[in-house]
Amino acid sequence: MSSIISQIYRRIKHACAVWEITLKCNSKCIHCGSDAGKSRSDELSTKEALELVYDLYSCGYKGIALMGGEPFVRQDWYQIAKEIKKYKMKLSIVSNGLNIHNQIQKLKNLDVDCVALSLDGGKPKTHDYLRGIKGAFNKTLKAITLLKKENLPVSVITTVNRLNFNEINLIKKLLIDRKIAWQIQIAIPIGRFPRDLVISREQFYTLALFIAINIKKYTSKRLPLIGAHCFGYFSRFIPNLGLDPWIGCQAGYSVLGIQSNGNIKGCLTLSDEFIEGNIRNKSLFDILNNPRAFSYNKFFRKENLKGYCLQCDVVKECKSGCLGTSFALSYYNNPYCLRAIEDQMFKYDQPPIRWKVNSIISKYKNLYYRMFYK
Ligand code: SF4
Ligand code: SF4
Repeated sequence: MSSIISQIYRRIKHACAVWEITLKCNSKCIHCGSDAGKSRSDELSTKEALELVYDLYSCGYKGIALMGGEPFVRQDWYQIAKEIKKYKMKLSIVSNGLNIHNQIQKLKNLDVDCVALSLDGGKPKTHDYLRGIKGAFNKTLKAITLLKKENLPVSVITTVNRLNFNEINLIKKLLIDRKIAWQIQIAIPIGRFPRDLVISREQFYTLALFIAINIKKYTSKRLPLIGAHCFGYFSRFIPNLGLDPWIGCQAGYSVLGIQSNGNIKGCLTLSDEFIEGNIRNKSLFDILNNPRAFSYNKFFRKENLKGYCLQCDVVKECKSGCLGTSFALSYYNNPYCLRAIEDQMFKYDQPPIRWKVNSIISKYKNLYYRMFYK
């Protein structure tokens, strides 16, 4: 999930509910974590959806992010969005931008707080291939320009995998000086994304350096850039890139995930084994207040740990990083962790440390330059 959205509401209990209002989608992204395409057969009706908005408000949620699938393909999305605004909650919408030109007036009427569009390539060929739609790149760029022209708050989310890793700097060039918030996250093997397209740990570290260097290089006005929750943790050299300070996974705490059929999870990044209940069988209040709900988070136990996290000196504060990433890649043994990568680099004692450090620095420098100057 989405750090841009959670940055708005972070560390407030029951801050942001991320709601997949439909699984139907007009894109066919190869990295789709929800394996979206067709609607679920049992999606919430309009009446149920409007009641859920009220329940979220009653349970203290400060904001709701609508996503899909593609949220704009659900016929009653505007009714749901209006209801959210009626209760003065923050409204974010995550979209692929393909048909946004038809929704501009509605978005203006709503006084929407954030429209986040996905941009996954710096070249048309890459973005179109990853999204499975010819012409998607140009449509998304047009959508960004249109939203900016209409003074609507637009941000961009880039999901990085092995196919677009080398185009990050091209995407940066498309966004810089346009006052567009940019969130970078890594694609993880959930939904239909294949494990062999997950970036390597070297690429992960290089990407973190890219984010850190660009945050330092540009003011937040020129390039408001952040890393998602997957970018951490407790690096000895790189500042926090997402949740700052990192206080552990927010699933079930400041973040909530809702599937289009009313299933409730701590976060939509978590697999279906983490469904805590369904609002058709139990009230949202009861699901949230079940003492056993979100137990992976509240009752985080050291005996569950393995590998890097088990030996880690900051495991109590970190709680194994992003649980969605951790579970998808290897249960409680987060190999995509800056501290773990650094520990592994610098504890290796042969050849002598100076050579080792030099060779590691040049390895990462090369990777970084390849990406940076592509
Ligand atoms: S090794 Fe595990 S516990 Fe330690 S910082 Fe990394 S993710 Fe967190
Ligand atoms: S699983 Fe936790 S850390 Fe990861 S995106 Fe969800 S809330 Fe954030």
